[in-house]
Amino acid sequence: MRPEAVAAMDPWLGRHFGNPSGAHPLAREARRAIDEARDAFAELLGAEPGEIVFTGGGTEADNLAVLGSAEIRRGAVLCSAIEHAAVHQAALVVGGATVPVDESGVVRLDVLESRLADLDEVALVSVMAANNEVGAIQPIDEVAQVIEETRPGTPLHTDAVQAFSWLNVSAVASRAQLVALSAHKFGGPQGVGVLVVRGAAKLAPRMIGGGQERELRSGTQNVAGIVGAAAAAREAAATRSATVERVGALRDRLADGLLSAIPDAFETGISAEPGGDRSGRIAGTCHLTLPDVESEALLVLLEEGGICASAASSCSSGAMKPSHVLEAMGVGGLSSFGSLRLSLGWTTTEADIDRALEVVPPAVARLAEAS
Ligand code: PLP
Repeated sequence: MRPEAVAAMDPWLGRHFGNPSGAHPLAREARRAIDEARDAFAELLGAEPGEIVFTGGGTEADNLAVLGSAEIRRGAVLCSAIEHAAVHQAALVVGGATVPVDESGVVRLDVLESRLADLDEVALVSVMAANNEVGAIQPIDEVAQVIEETRPGTPLHTDAVQAFSWLNVSAVASRAQLVALSAHKFGGPQGVGVLVVRGAAKLAPRMIGGGQERELRSGTQNVAGIVGAAAAAREAAATRSATVERVGALRDRLADGLLSAIPDAFETGISAEPGGDRSGRIAGTCHLTLPDVESEALLVLLEEGGICASAASSCSSGAMKPSHVLEAMGVGGLSSFGSLRLSLGWTTTEADIDRALEVVPPAVARLAEAS
């Protein structure tokens, strides 16, 4: 967590531990803290304070957007084929349909347009701002344009959970009526999410009870978590452009170094050559496809070398299944391959990259030889 977030949370875990729904001074103090956090997110996201709903994380924000829309509006939920499970699985539960992506991982606007035109009714379109596995940035403005031209009035949800650290979500998602964030992706605490709800978006709540958060998310708010999330968001936004530049350069050095040192590796959806065009990727993602390497075995070797990495989405913890993102991009067509996702963040240093460049290529070579 960002130190600013830890420091901001501390008082709300002890001395000021009031329930924001109460009427006494301690409660009013807690309510004021939440209101300030709401104002901060509104400003950072280009929304009104009354349009900010705090949730228990990114999954909950996505579920509220998808399931909450489907309960109020008739018709299908259309989402891109590379959505995080929090959107993808929720859309499937309500009989949703997916829109394919091209080989670089970008949603096919032509197919979106024809699906929108063909369906009888559409409850919601959901396209993420940036993908969590390969980092592909999606053209949210163009998605909104297609909706406006084909199905005006259909709400658009964008999962901006991976985007906030790297992109100005206020600008990127300005035409989306629903926008989801998760605090632990930008240096805030785990278990705190935000959903912007505005314009044509009408939602049925998933949590019913005391009517907190404009009746959209009942339950006593996590005051310390919300305050910490706002502190982290302010810091992430204030330092964003410098972080993107610094971390982007580290990512380029990492990706180019690995591509040079590992025969037959390719940067997923980009190129097999160093120096590929990464302008369509967020700065914190380096994703490689490695022929003849088993991802699970590679992760074990990397762990021995002190590298914490992921084969696919770290959120589908547990069983290693083929990634639906890679499949959608057509990478699954390879007969035998492994994938490696190395994530960078605001804490990543040059020494981390040196270490990864030292450890990853020999580990891959060992496995390729064995296979
Ligand atoms: N959406 C995306 C794109 C994610 O990457 C994640 C988590 O990694 C989530 C949603 C879920 O967020 P949370 O872990 O806060 O529930």
